[in-house]
Amino acid sequence: MNSKKILDWLYPRRCAFCDEVLDGTEKYLCHSCQRSMPKPIGEPNCKKCGKPLLHTEQEYCYDCSRQEPAFTRAKGLFLYEDPLKESLMGLKFRERKEYGVFLGRLMVLYGAEFIRQVHPQVIFPVPIHRKKKSVRGYNQAEVLAREISRGFSIPLRTDLVLRKKSTKAQKELSRKERKKNMEQAFVVKKEAGVYRDVLLVDDIYTTGSTANAIAGKLRAVGVKNVYVLTICIGKGI
Ligand SMILES: [Zn+2]
Ligand SMILES: [Zn+2]
Repeated sequence: MNSKKILDWLYPRRCAFCDEVLDGTEKYLCHSCQRSMPKPIGEPNCKKCGKPLLHTEQEYCYDCSRQEPAFTRAKGLFLYEDPLKESLMGLKFRERKEYGVFLGRLMVLYGAEFIRQVHPQVIFPVPIHRKKKSVRGYNQAEVLAREISRGFSIPLRTDLVLRKKSTKAQKELSRKERKKNMEQAFVVKKEAGVYRDVLLVDDIYTTGSTANAIAGKLRAVGVKNVYVLTICIGKGI
């Protein structure tokens, strides 16, 4: 056996959607999951945060119409539901880093139009706390962002947006407390202000509080436009 075969035998590659062991002809997904690939989010969606909307006459989702986000525009590519939800769980909690490579490449494919439109000079992954990173071995957002950086030859910087402390569980807090909690969680280095248009990459967009907190801080150091790209997004109302 050559070394690649030995590695496959020792660590069989698994389907990024259903976790079944792949045969030699399958790369990231098993044949069955390849056939049931979910469709990316289409119209109508919120012009600001990209959440899918129910009515075509709606321009913005409830959240964005109530308060304008600090970022310029966000896009989530797929709904946060299976099989992508399960795949993200594997990436975050079951050490399936290779899923992130696949998911990052999906972002390159389905996010290409958005990235070409917004034309960012640099990519920042949403950071996780270093304690979490040392337990997990990697930051999942960085794994995704690295593929996007490679796919479009846009530099990736992991040293300008940092996570300061572990945040309290957001669910237990009021809207106002949530905002404050999030703002305290991130540090943005002044040097980030040398960029005009930046792309923030994360795995999922739910309330938008993470993206908003970082975008606000980036704008405070002089960044003009903060764009956000996530593989998954929750439903809007
Ligand atoms: Zn599968
Ligand atoms: Zn919105």
